Amino acid sequence: MIQIYNTLTGKKEEFKPVEDGIVRIYTCGPTVYNYIHLGNARPAVVFDVFRRYLEYRGYQVVYVQNFTDIDDKIINRAKELGVDFRKLSEKFIKEYRVDAAKLGIREANFHPKTTDFVNEIIDFIKELIEKGYAYEVDGDVYFSVRKFEKYGELSHRNIDELIAGARIEPGEKKKDPLDFALWKSAKPDEPHWESPWSSGRPGWHIECSVMSTKILGKTFDIHAGGNDLIFPHHENEKAQTEALTGKPFVKYWMHNGMINFKGMKMSKSTGNFVILRESLKAFGKDAIRYFLLSKHYRSPIDASVELLEEAKKATQRVNEALDRIYRTLNKELIIPKNESLWVKEKRSQIIEALDDDFNTPKALGVIFDTIRELNSTDDRDVLEEGYYLIREEFGPIFGLFEAQQEQENVSTQKLDEVLRIIINIRNEFRKNKDFATADRIRDELSNIGINLKDTPNGTEWSMN
Ligand SMILES: [Zn+2]
Repeated sequence: MIQIYNTLTGKKEEFKPVEDGIVRIYTCGPTVYNYIHLGNARPAVVFDVFRRYLEYRGYQVVYVQNFTDIDDKIINRAKELGVDFRKLSEKFIKEYRVDAAKLGIREANFHPKTTDFVNEIIDFIKELIEKGYAYEVDGDVYFSVRKFEKYGELSHRNIDELIAGARIEPGEKKKDPLDFALWKSAKPDEPHWESPWSSGRPGWHIECSVMSTKILGKTFDIHAGGNDLIFPHHENEKAQTEALTGKPFVKYWMHNGMINFKGMKMSKSTGNFVILRESLKAFGKDAIRYFLLSKHYRSPIDASVELLEEAKKATQRVNEALDRIYRTLNKELIIPKNESLWVKEKRSQIIEALDDDFNTPKALGVIFDTIRELNSTDDRDVLEEGYYLIREEFGPIFGLFEAQQEQENVSTQKLDEVLRIIINIRNEFRKNKDFATADRIRDELSNIGINLKDTPNGTEWSMN
């Protein structure tokens, strides 16, 4: 039985999807105006692994992650750079995908963009106005927070508490400081869409309500994101959606903790490791995934260069142990024939940890214990079972400990293809009697340890 902590109820609950066997998940994705940082990578990795785990447990998962491609930050950055906002957001959607792929994040089933849903957003707002939950003032539309009785339910705040912190910003025409914008009229030279109220654009919160319900239905299973989004973003999403549909919006709200970057010393020479791309270059995929999974997803994490280095060493130790076992077993395919009690016990410990509100640090702890035990045995059956358990069964769930072998095979194949190209070009120089250039290619390759040998059957290469 899988239990997850539901922010809505403030308790761990047994997980039962709305529809048997299918889990529908929506996660708030990045606002695409810059390269993403490690903080954005945390929910991406955590919920990527959670998704894989649900699949391992037999569910079919429909996973949606949006891109916020219109927003103040995007508009301001585009202005600074003097480019169209679409150019900017398209560039950073592409860059996000590059980084996510390097980090081993699987593509979502759907990656909706806000600007593709503007018509649906307008319809949603129209309906909220018709139902009396929203009102227009001079081209802007606001949601009437006091009309929705359950407001504050998700973030566990009451209206009085919220009023104390709320205020009307200069230029805002809302009736109540608690109200939030659903539609904003555009300032001159801002991007805008036609609507019944003004040429303008959607407020931030409405996009997620529209994209999630259009793709996943009025009530879906899991809405995930960082805990900085609980208020006001998710509270507002919930209010406007439930006001419209009259149904519960989301069954389980899951929120990850934040990363504390205070320990992250940054200098020009070491690079800015807060930027995911820099961090990936310096520490690699496994280190970053392991670092993010080595603490429970709801806890805060302290980030430092030392901790990332430790994470790198920890994953290297596991990979080295697994590679050593692979060499010892000296078999092409490692699939254990029988299951011992020992491996069954390990598996059930890992499952028990992950079933318990997705306790990845505990599950990884079992994997490290298993490695320690494997390091002190030469029983081939145990080695085979342990190897299979970590590398083939749970490695693909964590996106960790994947066989270097496979990676090496791919690089060797690529290297061979590259050298074939070089050899063919060199042969053309020889055909044209340009022996100086042909020799130079051979000598320079030899300098980096690659030797060419001309034989009657063509040129062969070997590496020192
Ligand atoms: Zn959102």
